[in-house]
Amino acid sequence: MTKTAIELKNVTKKFKDHEVLKGINGVVEEGQVLSIIGPSGSGKSTLLRAMNQLSGPTSGEVIFEGQDLTKASKSDMAHLGEKIGMVFQSFNLFPNHTVLENVTLGPRRVKKLSTEQANQEAMEYLKQVGMADKANAYPNSLSGGQKQRVAIARALAMKPKVLFFDEPTSALDPENVGEVLKVIQKLADEQLTMVIVTHEMNFAKKVSDKIWFMADGQIVEENDPESLFNAPKEEKTKHFIEQVL
Ligand code: ADP
Ligand code: MG
Repeated sequence: MTKTAIELKNVTKKFKDHEVLKGINGVVEEGQVLSIIGPSGSGKSTLLRAMNQLSGPTSGEVIFEGQDLTKASKSDMAHLGEKIGMVFQSFNLFPNHTVLENVTLGPRRVKKLSTEQANQEAMEYLKQVGMADKANAYPNSLSGGQKQRVAIARALAMKPKVLFFDEPTSALDPENVGEVLKVIQKLADEQLTMVIVTHEMNFAKKVSDKIWFMADGQIVEENDPESLFNAPKEEKTKHFIEQVL
Protein backbone atom coordinates (compact mmCIF):
# COMPACT_ATOMS: atom_id res chain seq x y z
CA MET A 1 0.00 0.00 0.00
CA THR A 2 1.37 3.35 -0.97
CA LYS A 3 0.76 6.47 1.05
CA THR A 4 -0.02 9.86 -0.40
CA ALA A 5 2.78 12.41 -0.09
CA ILE A 6 1.07 15.29 -1.87
CA GLU A 7 -2.41 15.60 -3.31
CA LEU A 8 -3.56 18.32 -5.67
CA LYS A 9 -7.23 19.20 -5.86
CA ASN A 10 -8.42 21.36 -8.71
CA VAL A 11 -5.36 23.62 -8.61
CA THR A 12 -5.55 26.71 -10.79
CA LYS A 13 -3.12 29.56 -11.30
CA LYS A 14 -3.87 32.82 -13.04
CA PHE A 15 -1.51 35.62 -13.98
CA LYS A 16 -3.89 38.53 -14.57
CA ASP A 17 -6.35 37.10 -17.14
CA HIS A 18 -4.04 34.33 -18.27
CA GLU A 19 -5.05 30.99 -16.74
CA VAL A 20 -1.80 29.02 -16.70
CA LEU A 21 -3.01 26.04 -14.63
CA LYS A 22 -6.53 24.96 -15.47
CA GLY A 23 -7.57 22.63 -12.70
CA ILE A 24 -4.85 20.14 -11.84
CA ASN A 25 -5.81 17.00 -9.93
CA GLY A 26 -3.30 14.36 -8.96
CA VAL A 27 -1.41 12.47 -6.33
CA VAL A 28 2.28 12.02 -5.58
CA GLU A 29 2.84 8.78 -3.68
CA GLU A 30 5.40 8.42 -0.89
CA GLY A 31 8.63 6.83 -2.03
CA GLN A 32 7.80 7.29 -5.69
CA VAL A 33 9.14 9.40 -8.51
CA LEU A 34 6.76 11.49 -10.57
CA SER A 35 8.12 13.10 -13.71
CA ILE A 36 6.34 15.96 -15.42
CA ILE A 37 6.97 16.35 -19.14
CA GLY A 38 5.43 18.57 -21.77
CA PRO A 39 6.10 21.43 -24.15
CA SER A 40 7.70 24.67 -23.06
CA GLY A 41 5.10 27.05 -21.63
CA SER A 42 2.67 24.28 -20.67
CA GLY A 43 2.82 25.25 -16.97
CA LYS A 44 5.28 22.73 -15.52
CA SER A 45 7.36 25.23 -13.54
CA THR A 46 4.24 27.09 -12.44
CA LEU A 47 2.83 23.82 -11.12
CA LEU A 48 5.99 23.04 -9.11
CA ARG A 49 5.97 26.54 -7.65
CA ALA A 50 2.30 26.24 -6.77
CA MET A 51 2.93 22.87 -5.11
CA ASN A 52 5.71 24.13 -2.87
CA GLN A 53 4.03 27.49 -2.30
CA LEU A 54 6.86 29.52 -3.81
CA SER A 55 3.96 31.05 -5.68
CA GLY A 56 0.75 29.56 -4.34
CA PRO A 57 -2.23 28.64 -6.53
CA THR A 58 -5.09 31.02 -7.34
CA SER A 59 -7.56 28.35 -6.23
CA GLY A 60 -7.61 24.70 -5.26
CA GLU A 61 -5.87 22.69 -2.58
CA VAL A 62 -2.38 21.30 -2.08
CA ILE A 63 -2.58 18.66 0.63
CA PHE A 64 0.72 17.80 2.31
CA GLU A 65 0.93 15.88 5.59
CA GLY A 66 -2.83 16.18 5.99
CA GLN A 67 -2.83 19.97 5.69
CA ASP A 68 -3.96 22.21 2.88
CA LEU A 69 -0.83 24.29 2.28
CA THR A 70 -2.84 27.02 0.59
CA LYS A 71 -4.55 27.67 3.93
CA ALA A 72 -1.59 27.06 6.25
CA SER A 73 -0.58 29.87 8.59
CA LYS A 74 2.80 31.52 8.09
CA SER A 75 4.31 29.59 10.98
CA ASP A 76 2.85 26.26 9.84
CA MET A 77 4.14 26.96 6.36
CA ALA A 78 7.64 27.77 7.61
CA HIS A 79 7.66 24.40 9.31
CA LEU A 80 6.07 22.45 6.41
CA GLY A 81 8.09 24.30 3.79
CA GLU A 82 11.31 22.90 5.25
CA LYS A 83 10.11 19.44 4.28
CA ILE A 84 9.74 20.31 0.60
CA GLY A 85 13.10 20.77 -1.12
CA MET A 86 13.70 22.33 -4.50
CA VAL A 87 16.54 22.05 -7.00
CA PHE A 88 16.56 24.65 -9.76
CA GLN A 89 17.83 24.65 -13.32
CA SER A 90 20.23 27.46 -12.45
CA PHE A 91 21.63 25.93 -9.20
CA ASN A 92 21.16 29.16 -7.16
CA LEU A 93 24.24 28.55 -5.02
CA PHE A 94 25.56 31.44 -2.94
CA PRO A 95 28.70 32.54 -4.83
CA ASN A 96 30.39 34.14 -1.82
CA HIS A 97 30.16 30.98 0.29
CA THR A 98 32.14 27.77 0.01
CA VAL A 99 30.53 24.51 -1.01
CA LEU A 100 30.41 23.40 2.63
CA GLU A 101 28.86 26.70 3.75
CA ASN A 102 26.26 26.47 1.00
CA VAL A 103 25.16 23.12 2.41
CA THR A 104 25.29 24.07 6.10
CA LEU A 105 23.58 27.47 5.89
CA GLY A 106 20.02 26.14 5.94
CA PRO A 107 20.49 23.52 8.69
CA ARG A 108 22.30 26.08 10.89
CA ARG A 109 19.82 28.92 10.40
CA VAL A 110 16.56 27.04 10.08
CA LYS A 111 17.17 23.82 12.00
CA LYS A 112 19.49 25.54 14.51
CA LEU A 113 22.18 22.88 14.21
CA SER A 114 25.57 23.68 15.74
CA THR A 115 28.27 24.41 13.20
CA GLU A 116 30.00 21.19 14.13
CA GLN A 117 26.86 19.07 13.67
CA ALA A 118 25.93 20.89 10.45
CA ASN A 119 29.43 20.41 9.03
CA GLN A 120 29.45 16.75 9.91
CA GLU A 121 26.07 16.11 8.26
CA ALA A 122 26.97 18.27 5.25
CA MET A 123 30.08 16.21 4.60
CA GLU A 124 27.93 13.07 4.50
CA TYR A 125 25.62 14.61 1.90
CA LEU A 126 28.58 15.91 -0.10
CA LYS A 127 30.01 12.39 -0.08
CA GLN A 128 26.69 11.07 -1.29
CA VAL A 129 26.84 13.32 -4.37
CA GLY A 130 30.58 12.81 -4.86
CA MET A 131 31.57 16.36 -3.93
CA ALA A 132 33.26 15.94 -0.53
CA ASP A 133 36.68 16.79 -1.97
CA LYS A 134 35.37 20.21 -3.04
CA ALA A 135 33.99 21.20 0.37
CA ASN A 136 36.24 24.26 0.62
CA ALA A 137 35.93 25.33 -3.02
CA TYR A 138 33.80 28.26 -4.16
CA PRO A 139 30.94 27.65 -6.62
CA ASN A 140 32.59 29.67 -9.41
CA SER A 141 35.45 27.17 -9.59
CA LEU A 142 33.05 24.26 -10.27
CA SER A 143 31.56 22.86 -13.47
CA GLY A 144 27.79 23.04 -13.93
CA GLY A 145 27.42 19.38 -13.06
CA GLN A 146 29.41 19.85 -9.87
CA LYS A 147 27.35 22.92 -8.93
CA GLN A 148 24.15 20.99 -9.42
CA ARG A 149 25.40 18.11 -7.29
CA VAL A 150 26.19 20.61 -4.52
CA ALA A 151 22.70 22.09 -4.92
CA ILE A 152 21.27 18.59 -4.45
CA ALA A 153 23.40 18.05 -1.33
CA ARG A 154 22.17 21.40 -0.01
CA ALA A 155 18.55 20.35 -0.55
CA LEU A 156 19.16 16.94 1.08
CA ALA A 157 20.75 18.57 4.13
CA MET A 158 17.31 19.91 5.05
CA LYS A 159 16.06 16.29 5.14
CA PRO A 160 13.08 16.93 2.88
CA LYS A 161 10.13 14.56 2.68
CA VAL A 162 9.73 15.49 -0.97
CA LEU A 163 12.30 16.89 -3.37
CA PHE A 164 11.30 18.87 -6.47
CA PHE A 165 13.55 19.32 -9.48
CA ASP A 166 12.84 21.89 -12.18
CA GLU A 167 14.82 20.86 -15.26
CA PRO A 168 17.93 20.04 -13.21
CA THR A 169 20.10 19.29 -16.25
CA SER A 170 18.87 21.88 -18.76
CA ALA A 171 21.62 24.39 -18.00
CA LEU A 172 24.42 21.83 -18.17
CA ASP A 173 26.94 21.05 -20.85
CA PRO A 174 26.09 17.64 -22.34
CA GLU A 175 29.10 15.98 -20.74
CA ASN A 176 27.85 17.01 -17.27
CA VAL A 177 24.30 15.70 -17.58
CA GLY A 178 25.06 12.07 -16.75
CA GLU A 179 26.69 12.68 -13.37
CA VAL A 180 23.65 14.65 -12.13
CA LEU A 181 21.15 12.10 -13.43
CA LYS A 182 23.16 9.38 -11.69
CA VAL A 183 22.77 11.16 -8.35
CA ILE A 184 19.02 11.55 -8.88
CA GLN A 185 18.73 7.88 -9.86
CA LYS A 186 20.50 6.92 -6.64
CA LEU A 187 18.02 8.98 -4.61
CA ALA A 188 15.19 7.23 -6.43
CA ASP A 189 16.71 3.85 -5.54
CA GLU A 190 16.72 4.99 -1.91
CA GLN A 191 13.00 5.74 -2.24
CA LEU A 192 13.13 9.49 -1.75
CA THR A 193 9.85 11.01 -2.95
CA MET A 194 10.60 13.22 -5.94
CA VAL A 195 8.81 15.33 -8.51
CA ILE A 196 10.99 15.97 -11.55
CA VAL A 197 10.30 18.32 -14.44
CA THR A 198 12.60 17.17 -17.20
CA HIS A 199 13.30 17.11 -20.93
CA GLU A 200 15.47 14.02 -20.54
CA MET A 201 12.93 11.53 -21.85
CA ASN A 202 15.07 8.42 -21.56
CA PHE A 203 15.88 9.32 -17.98
CA ALA A 204 12.22 10.02 -17.18
CA LYS A 205 11.33 6.64 -18.62
CA LYS A 206 13.91 4.88 -16.49
CA VAL A 207 13.59 6.69 -13.16
CA SER A 208 9.85 7.37 -12.88
CA ASP A 209 7.03 5.42 -11.34
CA LYS A 210 4.55 7.74 -12.95
CA ILE A 211 4.54 10.43 -15.61
CA TRP A 212 2.29 13.41 -16.16
CA PHE A 213 2.19 14.79 -19.66
CA MET A 214 1.17 18.44 -19.43
CA ALA A 215 -0.03 20.68 -22.21
CA ASP A 216 -1.73 24.04 -22.05
CA GLY A 217 -2.13 24.09 -18.26
CA GLN A 218 -3.62 20.64 -17.91
CA ILE A 219 -2.50 17.09 -17.25
CA VAL A 220 -3.40 15.60 -20.60
CA GLU A 221 -2.31 12.10 -19.69
CA GLU A 222 -1.07 10.28 -16.60
CA ASN A 223 0.46 6.84 -16.77
CA ASP A 224 3.39 4.63 -15.92
CA PRO A 225 6.41 5.34 -18.16
CA GLU A 226 6.11 2.18 -20.27
CA SER A 227 2.52 2.89 -21.21
CA LEU A 228 2.92 6.62 -21.66
CA PHE A 229 5.92 6.38 -23.98
CA ASN A 230 5.06 3.17 -25.82
CA ALA A 231 1.29 3.43 -26.02
CA PRO A 232 0.17 7.02 -25.49
CA LYS A 233 -3.60 7.37 -25.50
CA GLU A 234 -4.03 11.03 -26.35
CA GLU A 235 -3.19 12.64 -29.70
CA LYS A 236 -1.33 15.47 -27.97
CA THR A 237 0.84 12.99 -26.08
CA LYS A 238 1.60 11.01 -29.23
CA HIS A 239 2.56 14.16 -31.08
CA PHE A 240 4.87 15.35 -28.27
CA ILE A 241 6.56 12.01 -27.88
CA GLU A 242 7.18 11.67 -31.61
CA GLN A 243 8.89 15.04 -31.53
CA VAL A 244 11.14 14.46 -28.54
CA LEU A 245 12.13 10.81 -28.75
P1 ADP B 1 6.93 25.54 -18.46
O1 ADP B 1 7.71 25.41 -17.19
O2 ADP B 1 6.10 24.34 -18.78
O3 ADP B 1 7.79 25.91 -19.62
P2 ADP B 1 5.80 27.84 -17.16
O4 ADP B 1 5.11 27.30 -15.97
O5 ADP B 1 7.11 28.49 -16.95
O6 ADP B 1 5.88 26.73 -18.29
O7 ADP B 1 4.87 28.92 -17.85
C1 ADP B 1 3.54 28.65 -18.25
C2 ADP B 1 2.89 29.94 -18.74
O8 ADP B 1 2.75 30.85 -17.66
C3 ADP B 1 3.69 30.67 -19.81
O9 ADP B 1 2.79 31.19 -20.76
C4 ADP B 1 4.35 31.78 -19.03
O10 ADP B 1 4.56 32.89 -19.84
C5 ADP B 1 3.33 32.08 -17.96
N1 ADP B 1 3.95 32.61 -16.71
C6 ADP B 1 4.78 31.92 -15.90
N2 ADP B 1 5.16 32.68 -14.84
C7 ADP B 1 4.55 33.87 -15.00
C8 ADP B 1 4.52 35.09 -14.23
N3 ADP B 1 5.21 35.19 -13.09
N4 ADP B 1 3.77 36.10 -14.71
C9 ADP B 1 3.06 35.97 -15.86
N5 ADP B 1 3.03 34.87 -16.62
C10 ADP B 1 3.76 33.82 -16.21
MG1 MG C 1 9.74 25.56 -16.83
